[in-house]
Amino acid sequence: MTSRPSGSRIKNETPFILKVLRRNVSIVAFLVVAMSGMIAVYWYFNPNPASVEAVTGAVAAESRDFFDPDAPLAPILKPVKPVPVTQRTQQSPPPLRIGLIAGHRGNDSGTECEDGLTEVEITSDLVEKLATVLRESGIRIDSLDEFDPRLNNYFATALMSIHVDSCDYVNDLATGFKISGSPYTDSSQFSICVQQAYVEATNLPYHPNSITPHMADYHAFREISPGTPALIIEVGFLHLDRDRLVNDSEDVVNGLADGILCYLEEVR
Ligand SMILES: [Zn+2]
Repeated sequence: MTSRPSGSRIKNETPFILKVLRRNVSIVAFLVVAMSGMIAVYWYFNPNPASVEAVTGAVAAESRDFFDPDAPLAPILKPVKPVPVTQRTQQSPPPLRIGLIAGHRGNDSGTECEDGLTEVEITSDLVEKLATVLRESGIRIDSLDEFDPRLNNYFATALMSIHVDSCDYVNDLATGFKISGSPYTDSSQFSICVQQAYVEATNLPYHPNSITPHMADYHAFREISPGTPALIIEVGFLHLDRDRLVNDSEDVVNGLADGILCYLEEVR
């Protein structure tokens, strides 16, 4: 047995820490690689101090425009533009629905000409054509008789009753139309819309001062539900306006349709 000098024995002894490292070389290698990676990532994404200052300064200055102008510069404050909050304060409006009464239909003939032409023929024809035009605009139409049972508590966006004035010759001024609105529900806007559109389409004169009590106190006004604006219109005189009402009713129908559409625009 050879005994070595004690000094060389000490020299050859591997330090404990190195032994541990050598034994766990794979873990050590992993830790070194991972740390290098993290340092690289940190170095790559860490902005230099000057640019950080520039960005936060600009953001804070911009923010002051949106918020309190006297507020101090915030270090980092993402500007959020104020957006108005819209709230639904009421329920969606019900679908548009218009009631059209064909004057005298289902009850009597109305005014009558010597040759047998009757008011109810005209009103029925006009309501049919008017309903077609309005339905094409997506409006729900109820075509109603003069004393239609549905008029009892009838509720709609609006109700229009169509009549025609006398077939007797009165004088040369007996041409044109009259409108009377319901006294129970504010129907003024509806009346104004129909009056203006009807004049524009037909050029017929408007007679505001010859409303009969029969028109002002029209039975349907009392029967329908409160809250349904309603009017009765005498669309013309069957004597002087006959040709326009019978053979050339397109303008008449368009005038009535435009008046209703005008009102629907107002209440929409
Ligand atoms: Zn009538």
